[in-house]
Amino acid sequence: MARTSGDSVSVNRSSTVTTINTTCPYCGVGCGVTAQTLNAPVAATAHPLPLVSVTGDKRHPANFGKLCAKGAALAETLTSELSVGSRLLTPRLYGVDSTWPDALDTVATRFADTIKKYGPDSVAFYVSGQLLTEDYYVVNKLVKGYIGTANIDTNSRLCMASSVAGHQRAFGSDTVPNTYRDLELADVIVLTGSNLAWCHPIVFQRILAEKERRPALQIVVIDPRRTMTAQQADLHLAIAPGTDRHLFNGLLGALYRGGHCDLDFIDQHTTGFADCLQHLPSFASVGKLTGLDQASIDRLYSLYATTAKVVTVFSQGVNQSETGTDTVNSIINVHLATGRVGKPGSGPLSITGQPNAMGGREVGGLANMLAAHMPIGNARHRSLVQSFWNSPRIATQPGLKAVDLFDAVSNGTIRALWIMATNPVDSMPMADTVAAALSDIPFLAVSDVTDQTDTAKYAHALLPAQAWGEKDGTVTNSERRISRQRRLVKPVGDAMPDWWMVCEVAKRMGYADGFDFDNAATVFREHAALSGAGNNGTRDFDISGCATITNDEYAQLAPFQWPLTDKPNLAANEPTADTEKRFFASGQFYHDDGLARFVIPVTDSDKQPSPLNTDRCPSSRYPLILNTGRCRDQWHTMTRTGHLPALTGHLCEPFVEINPKDAAACQLEDACIARVSSHVGDVLVRALITERQQAGCVFVPMHWSQQFSGNARIDAVIDGQVDPVSGQPALKRQPVSVSPWSPKSYAFGVFAEKPDISVLTNDADYYWTMVPVSGGWRAEFASRLPPAAFIKTLRLLADQQGHGMAAYVNYDDGAAQSYRVARYTDTVNGANRLVYAMFIAAAPVAVARSF
Ligand code: SF4
Repeated sequence: MARTSGDSVSVNRSSTVTTINTTCPYCGVGCGVTAQTLNAPVAATAHPLPLVSVTGDKRHPANFGKLCAKGAALAETLTSELSVGSRLLTPRLYGVDSTWPDALDTVATRFADTIKKYGPDSVAFYVSGQLLTEDYYVVNKLVKGYIGTANIDTNSRLCMASSVAGHQRAFGSDTVPNTYRDLELADVIVLTGSNLAWCHPIVFQRILAEKERRPALQIVVIDPRRTMTAQQADLHLAIAPGTDRHLFNGLLGALYRGGHCDLDFIDQHTTGFADCLQHLPSFASVGKLTGLDQASIDRLYSLYATTAKVVTVFSQGVNQSETGTDTVNSIINVHLATGRVGKPGSGPLSITGQPNAMGGREVGGLANMLAAHMPIGNARHRSLVQSFWNSPRIATQPGLKAVDLFDAVSNGTIRALWIMATNPVDSMPMADTVAAALSDIPFLAVSDVTDQTDTAKYAHALLPAQAWGEKDGTVTNSERRISRQRRLVKPVGDAMPDWWMVCEVAKRMGYADGFDFDNAATVFREHAALSGAGNNGTRDFDISGCATITNDEYAQLAPFQWPLTDKPNLAANEPTADTEKRFFASGQFYHDDGLARFVIPVTDSDKQPSPLNTDRCPSSRYPLILNTGRCRDQWHTMTRTGHLPALTGHLCEPFVEINPKDAAACQLEDACIARVSSHVGDVLVRALITERQQAGCVFVPMHWSQQFSGNARIDAVIDGQVDPVSGQPALKRQPVSVSPWSPKSYAFGVFAEKPDISVLTNDADYYWTMVPVSGGWRAEFASRLPPAAFIKTLRLLADQQGHGMAAYVNYDDGAAQSYRVARYTDTVNGANRLVYAMFIAAAPVAVARSF
């Protein structure tokens, strides 16, 4: 039978299979997923686990049927015991299981009391690009329209705030002009600060497929590391960290001097070009500023000069910097100067990290935005939004951005905080300070799918949220395409949608009128209507065509790109690439005068790496530059991917990538344990010595939390420096030192259940990491204690698990400092079951890990 973009049901002899199209919840590519559930559209949950399989949605215009490793493993997040076993099932108040009415009453009362006593700016919300747009919309409405503060910020601040600010400065709006299709239409693709192969794999596969079809397509990668993306490029420029803007500023001057600028476009559609030219670095200085050889610079400049169809892709490597916004504008300047913006095959293309960072931008989830791409500083917009919401008040000035928000928690200004779907104790810079602040805040609510995060343990109210596959709503990907996430299975336990929790709390705070939403479709219609209110083409974000869709039409909604001012043709229900929508090709921008702005490059910061904070300059004490980022198969702080054996085989331990020269200088041997330290903190990670890393720089992944490793939270090493325009933290250029950490003993263990080894966390005497495997967990340990003492500690920990009569098998060789222990326990049917086995020695344990 014909399949729609919504649901369809087919029946075979013994069972009913329901096919549902939904969207991957991981990265900003926003791939379509086709899920099949067996036996019921809403399957049973924990016992038995639901039967779900996923494949790529062949008709989704982002991925045309392909999925990366994370997307392909999505069914396991619903069907694996480890994953489902990690879920938060009921509301919890002060550590005790509770009920929804009591939990909601408590949250509402604590927020209302705090506001009454200390004012609206004493409360805050820290939300997430993992939320669905409907969740985001209601929480933003509550905070800015009803509580009357703008103290709501999102973890997207850590991801793409510099791109938002750069777009707004240049275009007068936060508009991504181009689309993924442009990557297939381009003749040159320049990827800067973007390890697309690992971080946005399906977009990279589209590029590689085009390269195979059309070998003349040139792929250029600008990245300090020889990443998997760089290894497949025609040209890799191993630039010095944080200097991309010099390369693009130099490029602008070279294009102008070479007569390659589109002077008509500049004259008719932009302003500020002449001023901009005055502030460019000399051509001769670009090599010195960027650390690049002249031949590579010449090759890049020549490609831009001689190719009409160029797309410049930028991502977190650009955004997560104290000069991120300036770098974004240096890229956009080049595209404006050549008139290459929003045209088929040419333009700047920001790719977001999170699945719904764009949706958050659309509703105003950032502290400096209001709603529907309207800035909070615009009085006319404030009046429009307040009147649309019919709300008692409206925030009048920007709220606290992420780093400032947690500083305000630290200094006691914020006294009640609700964290939704994110884990700032691991992901924020100054992570230890954030943890300390949350341990002291008078009231903390956390809504999440799991209580096994380093943030959840500080919550006074813990609210179980529905996970992917359970919740229902929309997300927007990096090319402005809005797709539905649909429910596949019955939610576990008492889990509820985030938008529902917010509405229930709002009602209890006395705001019932503004939050009487029946379902996600009702929220979406209001969001769509607001985008069109008073718009008339003055704002880029307009999906008013969806303002009157019915619940059934919402259920069937096919992926579409905004803007969408006419009601979608649901009868056709055929998302295709033919409907690509681009902005600015005709040169109409959203500044009041309709002109785009050339942004003058900041020159102060060109004189030294960071005049704002000398702690961030390499020094004899901290001589190496730390870069942080993603691994291919992990997601954020591993709350979902860390439980899946299918995704931990790629890279299973936290590591530091270091060049052989630096490793020798630091006296590191390959695979030894290394301490990476900055002026604010340190971590213990495995040394990975490789030429992929340029000398002078090191790389540590962002993922490992205290749930999976001791002392490897890399954001505890990052200080709180931010881009002064966007407020985005500089997560990729932290001066550090690296030194060997010399344990006296090593251990390897396998466990039937995950042991609680939190006692080893944050203790300088221990290193450990924990990896899920089929049927249990395996772990690596190291300790400053000698083997004879370390085995006692490990046995104490390991003996917490396993019930009934225990039997041990020991092998102790004190002279050789080698110990082995296995514990068995009786099961109900009398058969012996291995609870754990551990090997401890004075040297790294030589046991096959596949054991
Ligand atoms: Fe999901 Fe991103 Fe992979 Fe697509 S590329 S399947 S959106 S993680």
